[in-house]
Amino acid sequence: MADAIILNAQGGVEVPAEPIIPFVEGDGTGPDIWAASVRVFDAAVAKAYSGKRKIAWKEVLAGQKAFDETGDWLPKETVQAFRTYFVGIKGPLTTPVGGGFRSLNVALRQILDLYVCLRPVRWFEGVPSPVKRPQDVDMVIFRENTEDVYAGMEVEAGTKEAEKLRQYLTEEFGWKIREESGIGIKPISREGSRRHIRAALQYAVDHNRSSVTFVHKGNIMKFTEGAFQKWGYELVREEFSDVAVGWEDCGGDPGNKILVKDTIADITLQQVLTRPREFDVIATTNLNGDYLSDALAAQVGGIGIAPGGNINYQTGHAIFEATHGTAPKYAGLDKVNPGSLILSGVLMLEYMGWQEAADLILQSLGQTIKDRIVTYDFGRLMDNATEVKTSQFAEAMIERL
Ligand code: NAP
Repeated sequence: MADAIILNAQGGVEVPAEPIIPFVEGDGTGPDIWAASVRVFDAAVAKAYSGKRKIAWKEVLAGQKAFDETGDWLPKETVQAFRTYFVGIKGPLTTPVGGGFRSLNVALRQILDLYVCLRPVRWFEGVPSPVKRPQDVDMVIFRENTEDVYAGMEVEAGTKEAEKLRQYLTEEFGWKIREESGIGIKPISREGSRRHIRAALQYAVDHNRSSVTFVHKGNIMKFTEGAFQKWGYELVREEFSDVAVGWEDCGGDPGNKILVKDTIADITLQQVLTRPREFDVIATTNLNGDYLSDALAAQVGGIGIAPGGNINYQTGHAIFEATHGTAPKYAGLDKVNPGSLILSGVLMLEYMGWQEAADLILQSLGQTIKDRIVTYDFGRLMDNATEVKTSQFAEAMIERL
């Protein structure tokens, strides 16, 4: 019988044999990639558990489809479903212009306080890449999701609010800000940093990773980005000293513990290209993480295949999502790469503890690409590839499960 996932006493999610999972198929190309992905998920779960487990999918609305059917871009029933059932998945959504939301994705993350944006970046053999050794890229980025300049606290130049804030800052702090300036606020809190970094460290422990790197711009923004790094090392000493050690506490030789180090954001963008093997788990602030996730995805095939998850490890709530947009020019053409959503589903299955199904999908995706069966985006960069439609890619994957 279909049942809701619940939170257990240890704070983890407890998953019944037939969990109800809400999904948003998404706008534009969303329905194409969702139709393909859900077939792969169902086939993998059926195969991994011989029919003893299955997902009871529950459609919820957001974006254009929600607006057309309900007049609301993000109906409260949708938010409530993600709250009630803990784990959900979504395709890309159109960002309404002048719809009262900065972005529906950001709104969902903020409402449910999904403070970790999880972006693993790895290469599958055969995927076209602009770098010589894409196989050296195997990183898991933890991007903080709720703070930083990205949190949307900004006022527009020339408005009453901006002028009021400018005057206050001038009078109280002596800060000289030019007239007609837009002003943004960059809050980075101890609590927000610690819960995020804790999740990254715990992930490294659970997945036998060798290092965690804090990426920050603390040399310049000392009390925000610098504090993020300081609070991170503090947490390692307080809560993880039996399994991890900071660079300064071990001189770069962690023994059999996880090495925790930090790098400045600008040089990091260079080093992930030139020395990718030195990076494993990365914990970073919101805006740095935004740039880093997409820059790294480019090394291993681009956004068509980059998965994402937004997670609150304290409440158990998690929404997994394709990281690309709606690619509207390809909508309904059964053409685009479903890889991003399929791999987001893999993250979801792993989060649910259904590792066997996740592994089957990873292995079959790898084999399908190795067999040079790909969608147009990879096909145009590969020799001798068989270019297939979105739905055919899913079929090829199911045959290889
Ligand atoms: P986009 O939809 O990501 O598309 C940009 C380009 O990326 C496409 O033209 C295509 O490149 C490539 N691409 C995207 N998805 C692909 C896939 N599945 N397979 C292969 N290639 C793919 O970005 P956009 O055009 O800037 O944004 C369109 C809409 O999406 C906007 O409303 C935006 O707000 C929204 N958006 C939503 C999300 C989200 O829901 N998470 C994220 C970003 C943007 P080629 O043209 O080279 O083939």
